[in-house]
Amino acid sequence: MELPKDFVSRTKPLLNDEWEVFEQALQTESPVSIRLNPAKIFPNEKLEILNLAYEPVSWASHAFYLEERPVFTLDPLFHAGCYYVQEASSMYLEQIVNQYIKTPVKCLDLCAAPGGKSTHLLSILPEGSHLTANEVIRSRVSILSENIVKWGYPNVRVTNNDPKDFGRLSESFDVLLIDAPCSGEGMFRKDAKAGREWSINNVQLCAERQKRILADCWNSLKSNGLLIYSTCTYNREENEENIEWICRRLGAEIVEAPKRFWPHRTKGEGFCISILRKTGNSPAANLRPGVSSNKRHARSDNQPQHDSVMSIKPSNDFPCWDVDKSTALNYLRREALINIPSELPKGYVIITYKNHPLGFVKNIGTRANNLYPQGWRIRVL
Ligand code: SAM
Repeated sequence: MELPKDFVSRTKPLLNDEWEVFEQALQTESPVSIRLNPAKIFPNEKLEILNLAYEPVSWASHAFYLEERPVFTLDPLFHAGCYYVQEASSMYLEQIVNQYIKTPVKCLDLCAAPGGKSTHLLSILPEGSHLTANEVIRSRVSILSENIVKWGYPNVRVTNNDPKDFGRLSESFDVLLIDAPCSGEGMFRKDAKAGREWSINNVQLCAERQKRILADCWNSLKSNGLLIYSTCTYNREENEENIEWICRRLGAEIVEAPKRFWPHRTKGEGFCISILRKTGNSPAANLRPGVSSNKRHARSDNQPQHDSVMSIKPSNDFPCWDVDKSTALNYLRREALINIPSELPKGYVIITYKNHPLGFVKNIGTRANNLYPQGWRIRVL
């Protein structure tokens, strides 16, 4: 793709003599990477799941690049929550958690859909931690819930709230992750639309929106709490300048200055991550007086009953029927299942694939009615 002229003139000074190598990297294919769910996969199952040639992502345990992109939708283990498909640079979050979070925490992932960083946090936060995975845009909450339920952890709630709602929950979280909506400069290779929609004006709008989001929820972070702020964009306005603004206006100190990931240096997409610590006396409450007359508090989204069967700590003892791949895909398409083993009891049965639960059916003898959540049905033939 041809890069926007203004983007080139603004970004070249950040790279100097590396510019050409950066441009060349944008012409190459985006790497494909996945992160395994260590709480779900069985010992020695890694090779079977990876299947293709692979190479580890060095900054994230259980994460691998694949040599090519399989059709993940047609792999039942993907739907069983055995792995998540995630861009590798953003998995650097794991290094931060390992270095700075040593004891159980209450963590808010404020901009969580579709759930890449939330599922990662669930795998790496110290045991005893609790995660609130929030998404303000209602239409994006269902994919977030689906991914969280499939990942199977019990110590998480999914919410659908405005950042302002969290501002009313004073000093509630030890860790706040804001993976902010941004101008997406780091996504130009993967998503041509990001390049077409880019403009200086949009960068400025994004930077202002990020400040609003930060100010709105700041009160919910405890004093001395950690803010992890990330974007998938390179410019200074949405990174350094916002970090300086947080320190000055909200009250924080920099723990780690913005660290940029460039596709020519790191096998992944563009990404930028910073860490701050909230200092004692935050003036945030005075910044936006009477933020809203809306008294709605953070509310939990209704999770499907399906949770119990996807959990890493299953709490039911229904009979299981381990099916082959083609039956598993029919199940995921929400078709009724036939050819039921004669020994299978009538009633609720858990469908498993390679012993990983996918969901329930109701066995009525001649066939099994499909109880897979309607909204999760796969549409690929
Ligand atoms: N953290 C996610 C992950 O790792 O899968 C990706 C988050 S994406 C970069 C940013 C998210 O912010 C989107 O889900 C978007 O819907 C949400 N968002 C958009 N406008 C917002 C706003 N005004 N306040 C809070 N979140 C917003």
